[in-house]
Amino acid sequence: MTTITKTASAAAVAAAEEEQARVWDAAHVMKTYARQPVTFVRGRGARLWDARGKEYLDFLAGIAVCSVGHCHPRLVAAVQEQAATLMHVSNLYLTEGQARLARRLIELSDFERVFFSNSGAEANEVALKLARKRAKAFGRPNKFRIVSALNSFHGRTIATITATGQPKYQKGFEPLPAGFSYVPFNDIAALKAAVSGDTAAILLEPIQGEGGILPATREYLQAARELADRNDALLIFDEVQTGMGRTGRMWAYQHYGVVPDVMTLAKGLGGGFPIGACLARGDAAETLVPGDHGSTFAGSPLAASAANAVLDVIADEELQANARRVGAHLVARLEDLRRRHPHTVGPARGVGLMLAVGLTRPVARQIVGACLDAGLIVNAIGDDTIRMLPPLTITEGDADAAVETLEKAIVAVAAVTAS
Ligand SMILES: *Cc1c(COP(=O)(O)O)cnc(C)c1O
Repeated sequence: MTTITKTASAAAVAAAEEEQARVWDAAHVMKTYARQPVTFVRGRGARLWDARGKEYLDFLAGIAVCSVGHCHPRLVAAVQEQAATLMHVSNLYLTEGQARLARRLIELSDFERVFFSNSGAEANEVALKLARKRAKAFGRPNKFRIVSALNSFHGRTIATITATGQPKYQKGFEPLPAGFSYVPFNDIAALKAAVSGDTAAILLEPIQGEGGILPATREYLQAARELADRNDALLIFDEVQTGMGRTGRMWAYQHYGVVPDVMTLAKGLGGGFPIGACLARGDAAETLVPGDHGSTFAGSPLAASAANAVLDVIADEELQANARRVGAHLVARLEDLRRRHPHTVGPARGVGLMLAVGLTRPVARQIVGACLDAGLIVNAIGDDTIRMLPPLTITEGDADAAVETLEKAIVAVAAVTAS
């Protein structure tokens, strides 16, 4: 009797605390986020628990960030140990973990140098700055133009919303920096027409993420490579979402056999700890010199310890192979789902564990809400796409469980939206 009372009152306290946090959030945090109606307090692997103790299967992983799962013991141990040893000294001084991380990223890729940042937008800022500065050496006064794709996403700073080819991110923040133009994604003729000797860089996501999980074609990226070479422009791939094993290869460009001059990373790099990176090769790697760029926080011993631990886990647990295998299994299950619910579910698309389910009706938000109620976290892009970016550690059993819950959600939504 006493135990039951205690448990009941503990639940009541947790509910009251959650309610208090919602009131403070609504009153005092800037209103930039449309929050989902849940407050998470704990995570482990591909699972999260909310303030009321309900368990969820997390198929979003903090938007492709928690690639090794929540609270992976090796990541936790590395960060705990580093936090108790040395967190930060600034980039006025060398720290060993940062140098080791740089070495490992270079060994795993086709690049020569790296600049560390704290986020994806900041990594893209470096890429844009170095493209502009490098272009100066060619002696053409108008060689500062950046060509990016419509429907792309590159971040939320003034320069990166300008590079982002979606007016909704730019509206209200004008005047935007000059020299940016946009081309329809996967349209080689349009790219040819847009790139000239005045182009400093072509900036592309190999697979558009926020735009709806839309892979580039091989021919398109090859054409971009050739156009960049022919016009002394840089080819920059934004792999903030696609990088770090997400697609079943370490970098998405490896699927295409097209190596860019510059690649940006963030999301999965720190496994939940904020860190980004801009990698470059050739003259692009030598463009920035002392005084050109910097960051107080970036590449701190703490951030580097997290990223080094993530690289250890990806290698030791063979997470690229897991992403390929479980990704293929998940796509097969989603195709079964499509056969059972052709009036709602369209084709699945994506690579590795960067996947989306296309819908044939505009019910993505309702389905995502019903999934959350049923204990599955997925994400809606627009009205007709459900995005899945689970931890790279998931099993085929997790994939089956997710599709089972998704099916329940589809049935529940069909029951209320059937006309
Ligand atoms: C998330 C994302 C960004 C922005 O990263 P932040 O860390 O939020 O600044 C940039 N590019 C792509 C492709 C992304 O998915």
